[in-house]
Amino acid sequence: MFKTLLPDGYYRNFAEIPSQLFKNKHYMVSDLDQTVILKNYKVHSLSVEAVNSLKTYKEAGLKHLVFLTNTNARELKKRRAEYFAKLIAAQTGLQVDCICLNYRERKPKNIGFQRAISLLGCIPDQIVMVGDQLVADIKGGNRNNLFTVLVDNLGRYHWQSWISGRVIRNKLAFLGLRLRFGLDYSK
Ligand SMILES: [Mg+2]
Repeated sequence: MFKTLLPDGYYRNFAEIPSQLFKNKHYMVSDLDQTVILKNYKVHSLSVEAVNSLKTYKEAGLKHLVFLTNTNARELKKRRAEYFAKLIAAQTGLQVDCICLNYRERKPKNIGFQRAISLLGCIPDQIVMVGDQLVADIKGGNRNNLFTVLVDNLGRYHWQSWISGRVIRNKLAFLGLRLRFGLDYSK
């Protein structure tokens, strides 16, 4: 039962993903909140590390990035995701799109991942899926045959993530991987 939660790679943060990965895999689907940016509505700028790492990935072969984010149909969250997609495109020269998922479509459901795959127009094997949530990003990525990379979440969990039960589900998933496979992801 825990097999779909197993990432293909694990790094402490987004900037530590080795750029060689993008020599063969030219596409990235990434979570946004707590993976690339802090979930903080007062922050409107990108970290230098995130921008620099994306530039390095582009030099290595990354062509197109799609953010896949649960926005639950909230306009503010959608506008924020679109704002960051444009900002990253402007600062890195990468082609960047974002797919905002409503509550019914939320990760790990297949619909968003399938939409990302058809937008990128490549085979799933060429896509690196990056995220901080085992139960949403990694599980969904694995089920759709993407190469999954887990990173530690940036900052602390947002209060909404606690209330929705997402934090608890994720912590249980980490516990499951530790008990079943002996893996410990610094959690
Ligand atoms: Mg996240």
